[in-house]
Amino acid sequence: KNLGRNRFHYFTPCMQKEAQARRRLISDLRLALADRQFRVQYQPIVDLSTGAISKAEALIRWQHPTRGMVSPAEFIPIAEETGLIVEIGDWVFREVAWQLSRWRERYPQLVVSLNTSPVQYRNSGIDHHGWFRYLHDMGVPASAISVEITEGLLLDTSTAITNQILRFREAGAGVALDDFGTGYSSMSYLSKLDIDYLKIDRSFILDLAPESESVALYEAMIVMAHKLGIKVIAEGVETEEQCRILKAVGCDYAQGYLFSRPVLPEEFEALLRDGPARYRDSVAPASMLN
Ligand code: C2E
Ligand code: MG
Ligand code: MG
Ligand code: MG
Repeated sequence: KNLGRNRFHYFTPCMQKEAQARRRLISDLRLALADRQFRVQYQPIVDLSTGAISKAEALIRWQHPTRGMVSPAEFIPIAEETGLIVEIGDWVFREVAWQLSRWRERYPQLVVSLNTSPVQYRNSGIDHHGWFRYLHDMGVPASAISVEITEGLLLDTSTAITNQILRFREAGAGVALDDFGTGYSSMSYLSKLDIDYLKIDRSFILDLAPESESVALYEAMIVMAHKLGIKVIAEGVETEEQCRILKAVGCDYAQGYLFSRPVLPEEFEALLRDGPARYRDSVAPASMLN
């Protein structure tokens, strides 16, 4: 009991500070949209059968006026708790649609995937009609986007949510299950909801080395996904060896620092033009996306 009391006294000032910092972050976050402090970076997703960039993932960045870059891992959860994620999600979508309207002229096959939060679906925060009209006005087909959802959303089997995900597919957009393997869902959920891509979480790649058990695990996930007609994207690929193993076990796409970090649009255009750095001087797949 004594210990408990001490602990209580010890933690209080700390918790107060934390709560204060949180309130600060919330009020800063409210200003960030109007003050244009957000940017979207794009990270290439490489088709392992050709070596070409065929897709990109859009990742939000917050350039805070005094704190510098704040990681989405820090502010997305707060945006979710406060509901601000709905507005932020709309902004990211419009930003991506606008970029696509410029890029698709030259790269008509390019697909950009964007992260969506369960909160957006639960509060009917995604205005599908508005989104599709926006794409139409931009001259971008719905098939140029893919929405990434997280496993937690699949556990929620309410038809309201399933229907919202279905609306993307009906419009021709892709649906990707992000961070696969980190949550509680199993392969059986995959067969319940039609999805196009499975993104295997970075944690699985960390010990991907020849002879390691994770190779068998990766292979099993890929085989099952393929049986369900789902393509597999490996997240967090950092080494040539990982890339080689992924190809050997039949993985379809890879994304990671080996190819490029997430970059601003101008730099992504250069990647589309010249190919990811690692290919530039080697076995260059000369034409991207054609
Ligand atoms: P995620 O969707 O799983 O995105 C992949 C994360 O892995 C990104 O972190 C990316 O920069 C990082 N990454 C990519 N390749 C590598 C690699 O080779 N090694 C390592 N160590 N990391 C790699 P980031 O950009 O910090 O984003 C973190 C998370 O924040 C995302 O995870 C996603 O869940 C969320 N997020 C980012 N942008 C948005 C957004 O616009 N909306 C929503 N709702 N969530 C977002
Ligand atoms: Mg993602
Ligand atoms: Mg991911
Ligand atoms: Mg991940």
